[in-house]
Amino acid sequence: APILVWLRRDLRLTDHPALYHAAQQGPVVLAFCHDDQDGRALGGASRWWLHQSLTALGDTVTLARGRCEAEIPRLAQACGARAVYWNASADPALSATEARVRQALKIPTEPFAGDELFSIGAVRTNAGTPFQVFTPFWRAALALPPPPQPLPRPAPLVLAPCPGLPLAALELMPKLDWWRGMAELWQPGEAGAAARLADFLDGPVETYQRDRDLPAKPGTSLLSPHLAFGEISPRQIWHAARALPPGDGIHTFLKELGWREFSRHLLARQPDLATIPLRPEFRAFPWRDDPEALRKWQMGRTGYPIIDAGLRQLWQTGWMHNRVRMIVASFLIKDLLIPWQAGEAWFWDTLVDADSANNAASWQWVAGSGADAAPFFRIFNPVTQGEKFDPDGTYVRTWVPELAHLPKAFVHQPWKMGRVPGYPPPMVDHALARTRALAAFKGLKDDP
Ligand code: FAD
Repeated sequence: APILVWLRRDLRLTDHPALYHAAQQGPVVLAFCHDDQDGRALGGASRWWLHQSLTALGDTVTLARGRCEAEIPRLAQACGARAVYWNASADPALSATEARVRQALKIPTEPFAGDELFSIGAVRTNAGTPFQVFTPFWRAALALPPPPQPLPRPAPLVLAPCPGLPLAALELMPKLDWWRGMAELWQPGEAGAAARLADFLDGPVETYQRDRDLPAKPGTSLLSPHLAFGEISPRQIWHAARALPPGDGIHTFLKELGWREFSRHLLARQPDLATIPLRPEFRAFPWRDDPEALRKWQMGRTGYPIIDAGLRQLWQTGWMHNRVRMIVASFLIKDLLIPWQAGEAWFWDTLVDADSANNAASWQWVAGSGADAAPFFRIFNPVTQGEKFDPDGTYVRTWVPELAHLPKAFVHQPWKMGRVPGYPPPMVDHALARTRALAAFKGLKDDP
């Protein structure tokens, strides 16, 4: 009888501990269940990605739709499975589903190592408590035994037959074709992930420490959506990078993977990281309710070029450069005083790399309400940020065509040239907005 391997957010065949161990024992059924109540329901961009990623897996995978705790036992029975294996999720909402599936099954189950470099709970202070601050967290992680070497893809992989649904029955593809820009940029699936890693390690990684802050340069790995769906494991990335001669680029890149670890360790302890500020004083923050302003921000029509470029890059490609994510988040939270949760939710819907840990932790980081966060009073100036990180305006010109003809001196502050046809004036005056934000923050601190 086969072992059923339940795919979670780990849509790959290489370095898949559950699959590897199951395949060593005989035939396997690889199953995926689409369940809107399995953790947070996926956003539109993620649904598109998932559809493509399952397409890439093709006939290898048996598909189901509905509550996992009903569907996985049903599939296990239909294919006569003798056990069910999976890789454990770090997100408590996903592990809750796993606990329910385990309860519902009458055959043996086995969870394997998840997609972390260091298992959740392994990185602790000397006193045995979890870290609140990244730098000592990462130092402690690096002092542990290194992450295990990735496991090979099982060979031979004998798949047992099992009746499943056609992919279309999962109804993941959006009805409108807003995803065309995404299809041009991305190749979802394990092969696309491996190609991205190879391209990155073949060049950009060498200057990553310098170029990673320049949104006009292809200076980062673009691995985030592949990691979000587990098409590549962090162990594969880690060991491939470590196999190269050491340098500042590799060191910085591995540290960014460290931030991914840190977010997951935070989420594991704080299941409501996406909604509740880690610092309790922020629960009383005097946010504004301004749907029209939120809409302008979402559509990339704030009148600040670097902000609009970022939000349009997000809308068209499902991805935004990290530096620009920080700038647009600061603008929403501080210049517009709109709750960070509204930005988090927009990113969740539109990012192909939407990740329950990284997204929530990063929004809290910018808001100043998170663990080891940037202080609230650090408010990005969208003009100077633009001039510093997109000095000749290439990034703005790429994503905001109305500004493509502007000379360098005006591309980050077009209002200085007068009115630019088709482009809005700034929706707020940054200097005034900054003063307003600082006053709101001060009021918060002064409250008893
Ligand atoms: P690279 O620079 O090549 O980094 C490699 C990998 O390291 C990334 O794929 C990612 O897994 C991890 N990483 C890099 N930076 C961070 C970081 N600051 N925090 C945590 N992990 C990091 N990342 C997501 O994966 N999903 C999200 O939903 C997400 N939301 C964000 C929201 C905001 C407001 C901000 C400021 C950042 C967010 N990030 C998120 C983090 C970061 O912007 C992306 O991981 C990065 O831009 C992805 O591009 P890359 O793969 O080319 O990154």
